[in-house]
Amino acid sequence: MESIHKIPINEAFSENCGCPICRLYERYDQNAIRFLFEEGVMNPETRIETNKYGFCAKHADALLKVGQSLSVALMLETRLQKLQGLLHEKQSLKGAIKEIEEAEHNCYICNRLDKSMSEIAEFISVMYDTEEGFKDKFLNQEYFCLPHAKLLLENCKLKGGKQKEYLQDILKKNLAFTMRTRRSLKNYAESFDYKAKRGAGEVDKNASQYAIDYLTGKR
Ligand SMILES: [Zn+2]
Ligand SMILES: [Zn+2]
Repeated sequence: MESIHKIPINEAFSENCGCPICRLYERYDQNAIRFLFEEGVMNPETRIETNKYGFCAKHADALLKVGQSLSVALMLETRLQKLQGLLHEKQSLKGAIKEIEEAEHNCYICNRLDKSMSEIAEFISVMYDTEEGFKDKFLNQEYFCLPHAKLLLENCKLKGGKQKEYLQDILKKNLAFTMRTRRSLKNYAESFDYKAKRGAGEVDKNASQYAIDYLTGKR
């Protein structure tokens, strides 16, 4: 089984600091934004989708930061044109709420990324069994952030009878990280207590940031 995701997956799993799926997400996120400016703006099929789905707050901000203001304005103008057709005066209350909800909760880039991330998670579950040396890299990761642990577990149907082993490997890794991070947070909190013995535990000032990265991931 071959996949366009194989090289990026191998590269993300060659590092072992933080969540490897977050590293993949960031790479695909940047690629999706680059694609949009390099090809998407002038591509009628992409424009049908950007008109239909628009952008979430995070991605709208990212588009503005890239600084191609003409492309952004062109995409937003036709997105509003599409919305104008949906928000007509004679609509019912329910219909209007539904249209606004769809406009609020959709994003062309998020939709694209969701699809890629599911494919990636599925291919990782296959590589774990079939790619030489990959399982070692997998087991060598620091953790899988909670949203991405869920993504991996939701997309491992191709593993058949080996699903349980996969689940246990992921949970074991995350349990160890959870315990380590709790200890770091406790040591940090105790360092504020003037009665605490000095040197009782090593204090890591970034403990809260690590805990948040693990709990929320990059999405
Ligand atoms: Zn992650
Ligand atoms: Zn988005």
